[in-house]
Amino acid sequence: MKLREMMKDLCERHWLGEVVAYIYVIEFQKRGLPHAHILLILANKNKIRSIEEYDSFVSAEIPDHELNPLAYETVTTMMMHGPCGVLNALLPCMKDGKCKKHYPKSFQEITQEGPNGYPIYRRRNNGHYVEISNGIQLDNRWVVPYNIKLVEKYNAHINVEICNSLLAIKYLYKYVYKGHDRATVTFSQNINRANNQTTSPNEILDEIKMYLDA
Ligand SMILES: [Zn+2]
Repeated sequence: MKLREMMKDLCERHWLGEVVAYIYVIEFQKRGLPHAHILLILANKNKIRSIEEYDSFVSAEIPDHELNPLAYETVTTMMMHGPCGVLNALLPCMKDGKCKKHYPKSFQEITQEGPNGYPIYRRRNNGHYVEISNGIQLDNRWVVPYNIKLVEKYNAHINVEICNSLLAIKYLYKYVYKGHDRATVTFSQNINRANNQTTSPNEILDEIKMYLDA
């Protein structure tokens, strides 16, 4: 219901500007909840190009508790990454001792154009932090970028990012269309009648057959 309503906000009510095309997939990763990846193409007149526009649509800082209490509530409970790294090396985002999503990000006084077509969002070192369990304090470096209207309305994890390079757009399309997970399962009757035991699991695999079965 939230997803359907949000698609209306985005595509019919034009919360981020007029949408001329969109695609989305719902991904189910076998842990956590299913989630949607959505790509919106905005009309030319609404393309988000300037630093000021980036800031008006996407934030990556802990909201002000007094000014935006709803956003504060959602961001502090649902939009803080991890914590991973030294704080928790066992999170799924960790690979070879590093966070695959590059958290914690660096502090950033003002939003900047990034080298790969993704803006580097403002994350000021303003002393704001959220204290989570075990006294761990997470500051603006841990905030997953969000749109304040969307988090206020939906009270859900909704990561919003702007993408301005062809390379990144190509990657995103590929990513969104990567398809579902697949597994091959075979039922076979291969019982060793002599001692009534199944054969050892490392029976020889027929690679040609596996290839044909895709
Ligand atoms: Zn991480």
